[in-house]
Amino acid sequence: MVFVPLGSTLRTLLYENELLKAASLYSLKGRLLNISFPLSELSYNPDRRQFNALMLLEQIYRIKKDFELCMGVTASDIYVPQMNFVFGIADVSRGCAVLSIFRLTFGRYGDNQEIFRERVLKEAAHELGHLLGLNHCKNRECLMSFSNSLSEVDIKKPILCEKCLGTLKMLSE
Ligand SMILES: [Zn+2]
Ligand SMILES: [Zn+2]
Repeated sequence: MVFVPLGSTLRTLLYENELLKAASLYSLKGRLLNISFPLSELSYNPDRRQFNALMLLEQIYRIKKDFELCMGVTASDIYVPQMNFVFGIADVSRGCAVLSIFRLTFGRYGDNQEIFRERVLKEAAHELGHLLGLNHCKNRECLMSFSNSLSEVDIKKPILCEKCLGTLKMLSE
C-alpha cells in the first residue's frame, strides 16, 4: 500500500515510521511517496479554513493507479459536512483513505513527540482497518473505536481487540 503526502510534506515526513508501522500491523508493505500532491483548491472551504475530506478522497482516487490501497496524508485540517473535523476518512469500495495529522500533533499536552507519534500510528491504522473491511468497534481501547477527540485517541491501544482481529482473519479467508 502507498501513503501519498498531500500538501506540504514537511510535517508528514516526520511520521513516516508510524505510517509504515500502521501498514505492518496488517502485514502490509507500506511506502511513503517522496513527492507530494498539492491539496486540491476546490476542496478548501475558506469559511471553515479547512479542507473537505470527501473531496480529498476523490483526489486520492484520481492519484491512485495500480496500488491496491492508498492513503493521502496531510498536515492540514480536514472536515466532512456536519462535523467540526475528522482525523481521517476511508472509502472502502475504492480503497482510498485520507488522514490528517493536523489535530493529532497539536500541543495540547505540550510538545510531546512520543504521544504525537502514537496518535498518528493509531489513526493511520484505524483508517487502514476500514480499508481492510473493519467497522467501528465499541471497545474504547481498540484501534477501531471511533474517535472525535484527542482523549478518545489517547485511550486507544495501538492494537486491534480480539474481536476485530477475529473479524479481520475471517475477512482474509
Ligand atoms: Zn473510523
Ligand atoms: Zn475492536
